[in-house]
Amino acid sequence: MPHTYDPTNVFARILRGEIPNKTVMETPHTLAFHDIAPLAPQHVLVIPKGSYVTFDHFAAEASADEIVDFHRTCAQICADLGLSIGSGGPGYRAITNAGGHGGQEVPHYHLHLIGGRPLGRMIERA
Ligand code: 5GP
Repeated sequence: MPHTYDPTNVFARILRGEIPNKTVMETPHTLAFHDIAPLAPQHVLVIPKGSYVTFDHFAAEASADEIVDFHRTCAQICADLGLSIGSGGPGYRAITNAGGHGGQEVPHYHLHLIGGRPLGRMIERA
């Protein structure tokens, strides 16, 4: 089944400038901004500017330029926030939720970069 993008979702509205955001970094293909309800001292959302619903949609259909731009932006943010273990930082978690079982609330692909405190295990055992 094809991914159907809903252009009324809140991140599409942020990209159109209809809703304000606290921008962390912007590049030709990517926008990163602070989550409105942070789960840790640092909680940044990284989104592609293109109309992709989920991680797998982006991975399958985005251009190489978009994919590289997105991930290089993530790396720069990890460095800027002092989270990267490569420069002595404490680490962080990168999460993306997809669809119903994934608990995705906003149907525009986004990666959560979360850090600033120990985050415990990845997921609770059922
Ligand atoms: P999801 O559950 O889809 O993976 O995560 C959606 C995230 O978007 C949540 O962490 C939520 O707090 C955040 N969010 C929802 N609406 C807004 C908004 O208008 N602005 C910002 N900055 N974050 C939002």
